[in-house]
Amino acid sequence: MRFFDHNATTPLFPVARDVWLDVNESHWLNPSSSYRSGAAVHARLEDARRRLAGLLEVDPDRVIFNSGATEGNNTVFAHWAHVFTQNAFVGISPTEHPSVIEAAKFYFRERLVWLALDRHGAVDLSAVNFEELSALSVMAANNETGLLNPWSELAEACRANGIPFHCDASQWIGKMSLNGLGKCDFLTGCAHKFGGPKGTGFLVAPESMSGGLRGGAQEHGRRAGTEDVAGILAMITALELAEEKRIVCMEDLKQAFWTKLKQALPDTANNAPVAPSLWNTLSVVLPEFTSPRWIRALEKRGFYISAGSACSTGKSGPSHVLAAMQLEPSRAGRTLRISSGWETSQQDWDDLLAAILESYDMLRSEAKGSSSQVISI
Ligand code: PLP
Repeated sequence: MRFFDHNATTPLFPVARDVWLDVNESHWLNPSSSYRSGAAVHARLEDARRRLAGLLEVDPDRVIFNSGATEGNNTVFAHWAHVFTQNAFVGISPTEHPSVIEAAKFYFRERLVWLALDRHGAVDLSAVNFEELSALSVMAANNETGLLNPWSELAEACRANGIPFHCDASQWIGKMSLNGLGKCDFLTGCAHKFGGPKGTGFLVAPESMSGGLRGGAQEHGRRAGTEDVAGILAMITALELAEEKRIVCMEDLKQAFWTKLKQALPDTANNAPVAPSLWNTLSVVLPEFTSPRWIRALEKRGFYISAGSACSTGKSGPSHVLAAMQLEPSRAGRTLRISSGWETSQQDWDDLLAAILESYDMLRSEAKGSSSQVISI
């Protein structure tokens, strides 16, 4: 299998898997148990919190471990709905992940302000009217296109205007520098996007934030439920490793692939041609055939790629992200999201190019065959 869908999920780093197995075998007690061995597990949990807080440069008391970014994003909007008055307006971008959009719609309905995008598809900082907002939520990097938003400037502008800023950094963390993320008042992350296990994540939130889940004193009473200590330790191990790997720049591999693809198939288009984007993500419009047909043809050759986000798979209609970027439906319907990882080599990219060209030949000959069959009937 050649995996080009790292924005959906990533393979576990072997070192994270070792930590996960070790903790499950030797530190499997409940971290809230009061006997001494339970306290030892609790100490490991707190060590993970300190290490994560250190990487993000935040106070450890702001870190809440949870089940991932969907939970983190929902918790933020539930909290805002609880603390804001009925007249409060919240701003979000139309390209957010559904766990932000749906939570925001659920809690704020007509009190949502949809932020304008610039011509590349990133949030247009100059068009944000901070005075009409009580809070703002903007993702760091888009999961479908890889486009980067000006989250750092937005965080600073929110602070200057005295309103809280939430950033869903699920796709940023583990790929890009963590510098500055700590200045976001609320920050969502999830382990399985950076070589950690699925179902484990974190929310950084002000200490004053009331609980998301109730019914237990875990996470200082802010998120009830027994902590997944093995998953949390595997997550922090994976993040530390991803941070080390980040010194190797892999942007060139993606760019070289795009140049060769465009030369071989001039009818292809790049949905984020010039704007800054994640080094691993390429959102491309392929010629003639719909995304599901390309995906099946590539899968037959051992390549795993998505059209858009994994959580929108099975949804009919074009991607809300590409629609918000005003991409014509016919182009959006032929888009593939190609997302690489740390283990993706030059050879993998070259083989992908060959597989796309072979798939194109196959799809065209199938199309010719079916049209001549129709004629012969
Ligand atoms: N936010 C973004 C930007 C994502 O890409 C994803 C996953 O695709 C999520 C949130 C949801 O993450 P999780 O799978 O941890 O719930």
